[in-house]
Amino acid sequence: MRYPRFLEEMREGPRRRNLLHGVYSGYGIALSFEVITVLGQSLGVVPRGWALHLLVLAKLCTNTLAWLGLRKDVLALELGSLNVSMDVLVMTGTIYFTGGPLSPLFAMYAIEVAVLALLTNLGITLLAAGGAALTYASMSLAVQAGWLPRHPPPVVYSGGLSLAYALTDILWASLFLMILTLSTSLILRRMRAQEEALEQKNRDLLDANAQKGHFMANITHELRTPIHGIQGLTELLEGEVYGPVTEKQREAFASIDRSAAGLLAMIDELLELARSDAGKLEYKPSEVPLRELLEGVLPSVRWLLGTRATKLELALEEPLPERILTDRARLVQILVNLLTNALKFTPEEGKVTLRARVEGERLALSVEDTGIGIPPEELPHIWERFRQVDGSSSRRYGGAGLGLALVQRLVELLGAAVEVRSVLGSGSTFTVRLPLERA
Ligand code: ADP
Repeated sequence: MRYPRFLEEMREGPRRRNLLHGVYSGYGIALSFEVITVLGQSLGVVPRGWALHLLVLAKLCTNTLAWLGLRKDVLALELGSLNVSMDVLVMTGTIYFTGGPLSPLFAMYAIEVAVLALLTNLGITLLAAGGAALTYASMSLAVQAGWLPRHPPPVVYSGGLSLAYALTDILWASLFLMILTLSTSLILRRMRAQEEALEQKNRDLLDANAQKGHFMANITHELRTPIHGIQGLTELLEGEVYGPVTEKQREAFASIDRSAAGLLAMIDELLELARSDAGKLEYKPSEVPLRELLEGVLPSVRWLLGTRATKLELALEEPLPERILTDRARLVQILVNLLTNALKFTPEEGKVTLRARVEGERLALSVEDTGIGIPPEELPHIWERFRQVDGSSSRRYGGAGLGLALVQRLVELLGAAVEVRSVLGSGSTFTVRLPLERA
């Protein structure tokens, strides 16, 4: 059977252990209470009669049932609830037999609520506190209406030193304080242990992250060296240093060179992302002449077109600021990445435009294409690492799904924002909005 979440969670390991502590402290409290009652009765401070002993006995019974339920894992929640309900009944009964509203034992409710709060959760504590309030109110009303006989409170302090009164009083106060101190210190100790375990885990995580950063930096460095070797040797071969080269071989060398360049680009992206993870991407602002920067970006990607007739245009919507204050290299990196994608995903007859315009306090740089577009459900995910809309597209279009992840990091570095709009089959527009700090 399923109970509300706050009850169900008591089945979980650490909470079960708390329930066991609750049962042990239940025995402790019941037995100490019995000792105080016997002492109080023999000293004539507490009313005589069996009622108080019977209440302690009832508590010992439900406590034992709860203990068995937890040990044997049978009806643990049900027997635990019965035990807590019995606590409430026994407390109210004891308060009733020792003077009702005048009983010095009223503080027991506070103990119960505090112990429950420490050992269980808010739901159970509120339930028990509500139960206690209801039982107390019923008892009090029944006494006032005359449905239950009144019981006098234990001998009340009446001036002068009464050893019997003082002894029972002090014992009771000590029990009250001891239970609260024991249960709080127990819980605090466990919380401290958990806190230490968490701190250790945190240190381990940070350590693992730093090691990952070092590993990435080393491995990418190690990967670059042989690729440079391949490129160098290919160049020598192409330059016929080792003998004449046929046309077919020249094509093969060009292909090797392109693949090596692609690998280098991917390794650089991985290295940049690793740096960004380690918080080591540096922002180096300077006064950048805007038009010159934008005009310089296009030729650096035009070579990607090869013999394709796709149009690549710059659209400057005046008025534009002469200069902007930003990190030139990073901004170029962002635009090159976006333009590379646009060219990659736009067919021969399409068009790619780099557009610049001022929008209020921001400079909007858009890369628009009339390419294949991105399905709406994929739009939120294209920024994730190694994410490609069509997994097989890496074979068709190249790339590893790192470009946009890096763009997002770089855009953050520049204090800018990037947004994408796309219609499947008709094209995409990526817009970077930079804060316009006119230099
Ligand atoms: P990749 O190296 O694969 O291009 P990116 O992170 O740059 O990796 O892009 C992730 C994916 O987003 C791409 O594989 C592609 O599916 C999609 N994408 C990015 N830009 C465009 C675009 N202009 N048109 C269509 N799809 C795009």
